This record gives sequence, C-alpha cells and structure tokens, in this order.
Amino acid sequence: MPSYYDQYREKQRKIADIYNAIALLHWDKETYLPNKGASFRAQQIATLSGIAHNEFVDSRFGRLLNRLANMTILSEKEMKNIVLTQKDYDKATKFTDEFVKKKSLAVSEAYHSWIEARKANDYEIFAPALQKVIDIIREEAEIIGYTDHPYDACLDNYEAEMTVAILDPFFEGIKNDLKPLVDKISQAKKIDKSFLHKTFPKEAQWELGLEVLTHLGYDFEAGRQDISTHPFTTSFSPQDVRVTTRIDENDFSNMTWSCIHEGGHALYEQGLPVDQYGLPSGQAASLAIHESQSRLWENNVGRSREYWNFFFPKIKERFPKQFKKVKLDNFYRAINTVSPNLIRTEADELHYHLHVLIRYEIEKAILAKEVDAKDLKEMWNAKYEEYLGINPTDDLSGILQDIHWSHGSIGYFPTYSLGSFYAAQIYAAAEKDIPKLSSLLSKGKTKQLLEWLRTNIHKHGRTYNAEELCELVTGEPLNTSYFIDYATKKFEDIYDLNKKEKGGQIDKSTNKEKGGKGKKSKKKKSTGKKKKKKNK
Ligand code: ZN
Repeated sequence: MPSYYDQYREKQRKIADIYNAIALLHWDKETYLPNKGASFRAQQIATLSGIAHNEFVDSRFGRLLNRLANMTILSEKEMKNIVLTQKDYDKATKFTDEFVKKKSLAVSEAYHSWIEARKANDYEIFAPALQKVIDIIREEAEIIGYTDHPYDACLDNYEAEMTVAILDPFFEGIKNDLKPLVDKISQAKKIDKSFLHKTFPKEAQWELGLEVLTHLGYDFEAGRQDISTHPFTTSFSPQDVRVTTRIDENDFSNMTWSCIHEGGHALYEQGLPVDQYGLPSGQAASLAIHESQSRLWENNVGRSREYWNFFFPKIKERFPKQFKKVKLDNFYRAINTVSPNLIRTEADELHYHLHVLIRYEIEKAILAKEVDAKDLKEMWNAKYEEYLGINPTDDLSGILQDIHWSHGSIGYFPTYSLGSFYAAQIYAAAEKDIPKLSSLLSKGKTKQLLEWLRTNIHKHGRTYNAEELCELVTGEPLNTSYFIDYATKKFEDIYDLNKKEKGGQIDKSTNKEKGGKGKKSKKKKSTGKKKKKKNK
C-alpha cells in the first residue's frame, strides 16, 4: 500500500490534472474557440470545475491530511505541503453548497450587467448587481473570519497573510513619497514620444515579440505565443507555459512591454520545480510574487537604459524608417514618460500605484460598510480628482473600467502594487549578488539574472510565502523604500528634476553604471520595517 504521503501526492496530482485541463479549455477559449462553441465550452468548464472541487473537499482527503499533519517522519518540505494544503482545504470546506451557488449566481449576474452598463456607458445599470456582489463578499469575509479588519479576509484570498495593517503603511508611503515625485514631474518639460505611434506592421511586431521572448530566456520548447484580446500567461505544467499578446499597428509600446511582462510571468512558471507538480511546492508563491517577476522584467529590466543599449540597434534594424532619427536617449525617455491618465491598465510606472491606491481605499471602505454601490461612483470620481487631479469624463473611463468587481474579485488590486514593490527590492538584491549586472544587461546578457531568479525565487514554489521569500532573498521584509528610491533616481534623471538645484548642471550620475548597488536603501530601511512590525 502506498504511504500516506504518496496517497496525498497522487490525489493532489489528479486534482491538478483536472485544473490544468480546465486551464487549457480557458486558453483555447481566449485564442481559437469559434464563436458558436462558447456556450458548450462554459458548460465543459463548469463540469470539470465541479469535479475538481468535489475531489478536493472529499472528507476522506480531509482525514488523510489530518493524519499526515500529525506524522513526524515527513521532511520539512513535505510538512509544508501538508500545512498549505490543509489551509486550502479548510477554506474550501467552510462554504455551504447553497452559499457557493448564491455567489456564482450573483457573480454571473453582475458580469452580465457590467457588460450591459459598459455598452450604455452608465454605472446605474451595474450598481444593483454590484450591491448583491458586495453583500455576498461581506458575508464571505464573515465566514472566512478575520482578526482586525473584514477586508483582511478578502486580501487573504489573493495574497496569503496580507492584511490592512500591513498594507496601510505601504499605501501611506505611496501618498507621501510617490505623489510628490509625480507632482514634480508634471511641472517638468514634456517628453516627445510621438515616434512610438508611427505605423509598425503587425508581422514585424510579431517577429520582434518572439525575438524578445527568446532573448529573455523563454523556452519555446516548453511553450508558445498566440494572439488574444487581453494578453495573459497560462501554465499546464512547467513544461507547457503559454503566453499571448496583442498588436496595435499604431503603437510600438503595446505589444513590446506586454510581451516582456507576460514573458516574466512565463519564466517564473517555467522555472517551478517539475518534480513538485500538483503540490504547493510546485506552485507560485503568491500573486504578488508572480507579479514581481513580470514587473521586474518589464520595468526594472525592460524599461532600463542598459537593456535598450543592447536592444535598440536591433529594433532600428527591424523598423529603420520609424526610428531613423531617434537616438537611444530619446527612445529611453519616451518609453518612460509619466503623465496622469484615467485608465489603470494604460498607466505609467508611477501613476499606476495611485490607481491601485484608489481601489484599495474604496474596497476597504466597502468591507467596513462605510459605502454602498449607489455611492461608489461619487467616491471613485472624488478620489481621481484628489490623487490624479483628473476627473473621469464618463463611466467607461471611470468606475466601469475594471472587470474585477463584476467577477467578485475584491482584494485583488493590491497584489499589482505589491508586485512592483517586491520587484524593486528583489532587483536590488540581484544587483548586490550579480557582479556588474547592469553592464551585463547593456551587453544583452540576461542569463545571469534569470539563473539568479531561478535559484532564489522560482525553485522554491510556494514552500515560502511571499513575506518569508522576501526575507530569504533580500534579508528583510518588504520595504517600499526600495521602490521609492528606484523610482526617484530613475525619473529624476529622465525628467532632469535636479537641474536647477545643481546650478544648471544635469545630474547624470544615474546614467552611469550604478556603483554600490543595493546599498542605496539601507539608510531608510527602518521605516518600512518598523511600521510593519508595529502593525503585525
Ligand atoms: Zn501581470
């Protein structure tokens, strides 16, 4: 008879097989499914989801987990798998069938009414259905349970152990440190980026995307790229991780950085340990860590001067007419322009976090029962005025822009910002560990960085949660000053913000190879750390 742990592993793999089959059906739905196939496809996905759920909440499996949890012969990693699976099991079995059905009904109604509201550009159409979702999410938070704030229960659904007490100081930092930088930039001379909107033929962009992915280290023997409306990454095992992209012929940026972003997600999935398939130790650590991998490649690498030092001549070859008179420095500045915009997904590297801050504050207020659906639009618009200085011109570019709430996903948005914060801190650690990282990148050598990420992040799967992983890799808990320092240094340089203080001298120090990497944040280390400890 197989050992208890073997039985556990087999069960987990069986469930993973079903979920990965569902993922493949989803991938197909987003890429190749003919229109008429949609309704049976929805049914097929629902059937398989039901089977996977029932396999998992089986009481015999619960008893097996209990037995394993009390065994002393398991290795540390095996025990971690049991503890994590037990947590997932306890959560999944907390809900009655009645509640699950009620929620799925409310969510499909809300999604439908969100689509209708978008067509009419009218939030009022969406508000009643959204209120039902809000009521259910509030009920769900009570069922899951929390210690301090009901929003904590929602956050934990997307980022294990994340709480309001931890996030509040981070977003306070965004208000206190990032907002002034953004305001300063708004006074600076505008950067010309019109050449990024010339015509870039689809075929040539597609080829560039493949070249970029290959160059980053994406394994095409263990994945492929296709076209979809919204770019995404999906994985069926570390040996089959697929990315999608979209191409806008009048926008060089759209495909390029979404390709690097999804490539970052995919590199993480391809780097997860194959032998841990189906187990927590074979899954990503968290959504925020996943996002840190995509953003590290997209922003810290893919929007750096070093990276384009190598790659710019290549795109000049591909698009000789479009970039004929463009110099590397103009290109670098153009791809890093900062200006307020109403749409989160189109935001620059800095404003992005103000968009998330707004959603964080609103969701927190929803769970605290301080606001209901009928007053959300007013709250939304007021916050855009306060933080971005712009007012949504209509509901489409305002409160109706995101799909998340119509899916019942409340508590998801913060993981996007956390991704950037983790990315900055992880990148600073990589700069410390890899000799001359920036000069390697300027020669087009990305392999060392990928190997470092594989060893320090990817191979651990979910064995460590985000916070533990962050401490392990960087030596300290998440500290937003790494992101603030990175952003300040980078954008002060791009926008010549120190020009006046230096008596007309442009501070080029940040253009050069960064010496003493990673040390820059040491002095501020205590801020984030202290705040966090206090709130734990
Ligand atoms: Zn992402």
